[in-house]
Amino acid sequence: MDSTHESVTAARTGGCLCGLIRFIAKGEADYPHTCSCQHCKKRGGCPMMSWVAFSLDSFEWTGEGGEPTWYETFPGETKRGFCPTCGSHVAAIDSGDTWMGVNIPALDEPDGDEFVPVNQSFRGDAVSWLPQVPDRS
Ligand SMILES: [Zn+2]
Ligand SMILES: [Zn+2]
Repeated sequence: MDSTHESVTAARTGGCLCGLIRFIAKGEADYPHTCSCQHCKKRGGCPMMSWVAFSLDSFEWTGEGGEPTWYETFPGETKRGFCPTCGSHVAAIDSGDTWMGVNIPALDEPDGDEFVPVNQSFRGDAVSWLPQVPDRS
């Protein structure tokens, strides 16, 4: 392991339900938030997804399955990654972006203070029967 110029940030690990897709993120966690857009709802089968971003510099796919299977939700612009075996959603990335969006529940320890959502995207598409995350961004 090359730790000579790593910052002191703890490494976070995560992956899919079956363990085929695994990742490690060593950088700062950026902008934890939920999203109730149509893509999050349909892809997730849930009222909202929750996301946090990590710099690609410190992000690596480490599992036997390598990268997740990517589905382009906006072809050429945005793709979302899931495990081809168990279907767990683990990540999303915009074309050319330097940050990997990670599904917070894909983290092995998703309960840290740094993962408490500070905002909710696409409030207008949210279901009416679940309270929304307050804007603390
Ligand atoms: Zn899996
Ligand atoms: Zn969304």
